Amino acid sequence: MATRDLYGELGVKRTATADEIKKAYRKLARKHHPDVNPGNREAEERFKRISFAYDVLSDGEKRKAYDEFGEEGLQAGFDASRAREWKRAQESMGAAGAGFGGVGGGRYASFEDIFGDIFGGGRGATHVEQGPDVETTLDLDLLDAIRGTTATVQLTKPSECAVCHGSGGQGPGKTCPDCRGRGQIKMGGGPMSFGRRCERCQGTGRCPSQPCPVCRGRGITEALEKLNVKIPPGVGDGSRIRLAGKGGAGRGGAPAGDLYIVTKVRPHPRLERRDRDLYLQVPVTIGEAMHGATIDVPTPDGTVKLKVPPGSQSGSKLRLRGKGVPAMKGSERGDLYVVLQIHVPPDGDERTREAVRALEATYQGSPRAGFTL
Ligand SMILES: [Zn+2]
Ligand SMILES: [Zn+2]
Repeated sequence: MATRDLYGELGVKRTATADEIKKAYRKLARKHHPDVNPGNREAEERFKRISFAYDVLSDGEKRKAYDEFGEEGLQAGFDASRAREWKRAQESMGAAGAGFGGVGGGRYASFEDIFGDIFGGGRGATHVEQGPDVETTLDLDLLDAIRGTTATVQLTKPSECAVCHGSGGQGPGKTCPDCRGRGQIKMGGGPMSFGRRCERCQGTGRCPSQPCPVCRGRGITEALEKLNVKIPPGVGDGSRIRLAGKGGAGRGGAPAGDLYIVTKVRPHPRLERRDRDLYLQVPVTIGEAMHGATIDVPTPDGTVKLKVPPGSQSGSKLRLRGKGVPAMKGSERGDLYVVLQIHVPPDGDERTREAVRALEATYQGSPRAGFTL
């Protein structure tokens, strides 16, 4: 950063008194004020420079910092005592001191180049920051996952503070006392040291002078939120549903992050999902299996009629085309397989036993003939 000659801007000597500075400012301000020069960009720029110079030189503290360190000394987070230590150390080594010719001459080596460490990671940090992405899991019944549903999701996420509406408090920003404006807290030491983002100012290096007591000046609080979420038909176990802008709140008017809902599908006692297909165990009687029948089968779309062919066995699979999991991006709708389970009647009276004996006689040999592994 090049330091401007603020004394020259006002046309006063470096030794000018506060009164002289004020007079010079008033005279120039009257001449260059935008109201007096409508539409004149040059005058407007000049007026801004004059105002800046006056802002610094009319303030005892700022003027002192400027006299000693130039414009860099006015930066947020600038640490004068550390800067002086640095300067002494550099000068005693006879090195960088040369780049540091007195103040007021108008040309300086960049303070940041020489003392980059003084500003640390806080330089360049801003108040504007996109909100974080947030992830949460949602338990779903298999049928709800297949058909789609509306679910209520409860989660804790970074939200704009309801008390200060995200401003963090009142009053102009002041240097964060925790990180001294650097935005980072140094951890460890020596060659192993690294910076951790400052919690108090969230890495911005600045805090409101009257911080909000609820969010302690951060403008963001962890808040419990309930959201009604539309779950599209066909989601699976472990599907990630993205809700843009429903994640953590952003800072300084930046957009919120995204919310990802990861589904966890509970198993169903009868219905099994394999990829896009469904498998349903359906009991049938011995007669229905032997002679064939038309039976009612429940599906996610409602009940359908199914023809059981004569001579069906337990475990026979009958396909209901297109009655599986609904299509999603990149996949077609699956099928529903009905898996027949022959249901044996309870052991009954002599007439039933007689009938079973007659049935047994119809087997041609053991059904396990040649049944080996
Ligand atoms: Zn607050
Ligand atoms: Zn801080």
